[in-house]
Amino acid sequence: MKKTLGIVGAGQLGRMMALAAAPLNIRCVFLDPARDACASAYGDQLVADYDDLEAATVLAGQADAATFEFENVPPSTVAAIAEQIPAYPPALALATSRDRWLEKSMFQRLNIPIPPIARVDSQSALVAAVQDIGLPAVLKTRTMGYDGKGQKVLRHAADLENAVAELGNVPLILEGFIAFDDELSCVAVRSADGDFKCYDLVLNEHQDGILYRSAPQATHSLQGHAADYVKRVMEELQYVGVMAFEFFRLGDSLMANEIAPRVHNSGHWTIEGAETSQFENHVRAVCGLPLGDVATRGAVTMLNVFGGHPDIGGLLRLPGVHWHDYDKAPRPGRKLGHVTVTAADPATLQIRVAAAEQCLRNDRGVA
Ligand code: AMP
Repeated sequence: MKKTLGIVGAGQLGRMMALAAAPLNIRCVFLDPARDACASAYGDQLVADYDDLEAATVLAGQADAATFEFENVPPSTVAAIAEQIPAYPPALALATSRDRWLEKSMFQRLNIPIPPIARVDSQSALVAAVQDIGLPAVLKTRTMGYDGKGQKVLRHAADLENAVAELGNVPLILEGFIAFDDELSCVAVRSADGDFKCYDLVLNEHQDGILYRSAPQATHSLQGHAADYVKRVMEELQYVGVMAFEFFRLGDSLMANEIAPRVHNSGHWTIEGAETSQFENHVRAVCGLPLGDVATRGAVTMLNVFGGHPDIGGLLRLPGVHWHDYDKAPRPGRKLGHVTVTAADPATLQIRVAAAEQCLRNDRGVA
């Protein structure tokens, strides 16, 4: 059965969706303002802004179903496409996840634990919020924050000065600072008829606020807890597709940080490391196909590559190492690709990850 999937956004996530869609005989067509977008070689592309509703209508006319690859897509674009063809995840999920206040209020409604929060729309509201929540605390923009951007940690009273102006005098949210043990994410998928599957919980390690390492945890004691929280959110939003739910772990409890209504960097390991990748399951869900098995195959770790290119020849010579090149020009801090390392057992994985990291250090200038 030949189908066409419209994807708003043609970056690396769109590209990995197109690569997963191809064996299912699903062709992709993209909408993206960048002419040299990373996914443009993998399907036709409409070059237009994400908020161009006319282009969105053209995309809908060319596709049987549609999705988007990241949160910067306006919910109105998804809603416009959904008037013509199935478009998932739903615009409501996008609108909720783009606004930290709406998102955290939803978690509260669903009895999912969150840090203490307060709305902050002015410097005087910030002072009042800090009196309530205490220090340290994290001040974040309500919208358009990612990879640690648009936020400021407040540790001392002096840090409050000008904090609202520093973040651009936009609507903000203050969160209590959580001294978490580690950060976990739960990548899950839901179909239109309510089938739900959840990959192994992923342990995530960040460098300078950007994800560096993701490793699925076989038989994590909080797996059931996390799956229950994701399921509650997915049912509330009548969600279809893959979602990543990021948590802070404190001892044996979880606290919600945020959701991403899309395929997620902490799920890239599933391409080689799971029976069905997050990209294939997302495509399947959005196109109305049965979901695939989410079991992990052996031991897996994913490493992000930023800044400069790694020793690619070195990586390609290593057993169990898979290099994904996003075809992007090097720039400090820019995500250029990722490496998935697989092995039959954790001990072999550790050796292979160490060898792969040697190749990443080459060009990053990291000691
Ligand atoms: P976010 O953009 O909200 O995912 O935040 C980026 C990173 O900042 C998270 O992955 C955490 O490492 C850290 N962070 C965010 N919120 C908090 C918080 N309330 N307490 C402690 N650390 C936080």
